[in-house]
Amino acid sequence: MKKVAVITGGGSGIGEATAKRFAKEGIRVCLLDLKEERAESVKEEIVRDGGEAFVLDVDVSDEERVVEALETVKQEWGHIDILFNNAGINGTLNSIEEMKVEEWDKTIHTNLRSTFLMVKHSIPYMKENGGSIIITSSINGNRTFSNFGMTAYSTSKAGQVAFMKMAALELAQYRIRVNAICPGAIETNIDQSTDKKESVKEIEIPVTYPEGSHPLEQKSGSPEQVADVVYFLASDASSHVTGTAMYVDGAESLL
Ligand code: NAD
Repeated sequence: MKKVAVITGGGSGIGEATAKRFAKEGIRVCLLDLKEERAESVKEEIVRDGGEAFVLDVDVSDEERVVEALETVKQEWGHIDILFNNAGINGTLNSIEEMKVEEWDKTIHTNLRSTFLMVKHSIPYMKENGGSIIITSSINGNRTFSNFGMTAYSTSKAGQVAFMKMAALELAQYRIRVNAICPGAIETNIDQSTDKKESVKEIEIPVTYPEGSHPLEQKSGSPEQVADVVYFLASDASSHVTGTAMYVDGAESLL
């Protein structure tokens, strides 16, 4: 039986590359995204190359839409084996003092509340046969370097790792594995979701980037390099791996 994957943020960047990688491996992919048009063009490419995909226009922080979407996948393909919980935004970069509650909530809801909702509502569809859940966190959940104003983002990303560990323990009884990936800088469209406020400039202290701030390759990673790791965590090649946060950053976080 063909495996079925749900991918949030499948219309761009890491989610797009992973959808294409999964489809090449014969996995059916459902792309959940706010930007339906972009996701549709990813779907078309997948189908043109012989894969199976469909798109659902879903805000992953909206519980009702999440519940409906997962039920639609069940109706369409009968089961869910893989959840790639990946949609996220940088959000508003602001000082803590100036940060509006709505700015904070938007980032936390998009990145962290959505993770809870997606995992919570996927369990009924995965618990009978087991499966794999992969959560996209970030190296910024665990460091402050060059991260000015990204308090809400970093908090959401650290929260995702804590959530992943609790979920891995709780869902082991159903043979559902739960892992996180922590990418460093990756060439995607994420900067389009960034709103940098003036206050950040005031708190920015001069930072000299170490020579070669991406030690392994002297450049940012590609979405495809991340997709390879997600595929490993989704596949049976990682059947004894759960509760792990895997860094995909070319040693950027070691500087
Ligand atoms: P991207 O902007 O290229 O893709 C993110 C996708 O998520 C977009 O298609 C967007 O429409 C979608 N999305 C945003 N909010 C949504 C919502 N509420 N509901 C449904 N879809 C929504 O960015 P990316 O870099 O591919 O980001 C993917 C994940 O990787 C994010 O969680 C991000 O925090 C994480 N990450 C990215 C980097 C990087 O340098 N690019 C580094 C570390 C972690």
